[in-house]
Amino acid sequence: MPTPEWLKGRLEVCCNEEAFIHESSYVDEPCQIGHGSSIMHFSHIMANSVIGSHCQIGQHVTIHPGVFIGNNVRILNNTLLNSGVIIEDDVYCGPSTIVAPLKYIRGEAANISTIQPTLIRRNASIGANTTVAAGFTLGQFSFIEAGSVVDRNVPDFALVYGNPLQFAGWRCECGQLIKFTIANITSCSRCGKRYSRQSDTEIVQLRSGSTPHDSNIQSRSTIRKPQSDY
Ligand SMILES: [Zn+2]
Repeated sequence: MPTPEWLKGRLEVCCNEEAFIHESSYVDEPCQIGHGSSIMHFSHIMANSVIGSHCQIGQHVTIHPGVFIGNNVRILNNTLLNSGVIIEDDVYCGPSTIVAPLKYIRGEAANISTIQPTLIRRNASIGANTTVAAGFTLGQFSFIEAGSVVDRNVPDFALVYGNPLQFAGWRCECGQLIKFTIANITSCSRCGKRYSRQSDTEIVQLRSGSTPHDSNIQSRSTIRKPQSDY
């Protein structure tokens, strides 16, 4: 699996001396592990995976071949990441997160060419015991409550929960709930960051002093949920 564009040039060649790998864990070769990262007890990182710098990989974590993980990512105990998972920087994966490899799977050996990439964008936060079906995107700063089953795309800043997945609102970068009334512009009550509501399924963050039509919008979700029944 080729290295994604956003990871190229950002990772150093496997540097076990600068990364902590507990003696009870296995890291198959070749892998790349950035400096300052730690892999705790009884974990298994399979070949052709890339882990960025300053990541924390907990106990009993299994990372299948061809997983790409950015920098400053926390992956807590018992998490399973299957092939095809791409995780950007500053993501939090709570304990026992499962990311599935395929939408449709049988007991017979899977054809690796059918693996569907799952993209978890920067600063997303995934609660404990969440299952993510293959082939979806979790938007930046999205917040998945514990125990959810993610079977569709999640917009940037969205707060979702449950099974079937329910939309519960929006969260600011700082974690505070964002409230929209009639107006489509609002500010976070904690940090003051401003947001514009583009539709029921999309908000964007505005730079200080900008209007929704300015070109300096900080981020824009390109994710659309495939169904209208959150
Ligand atoms: Zn805020």
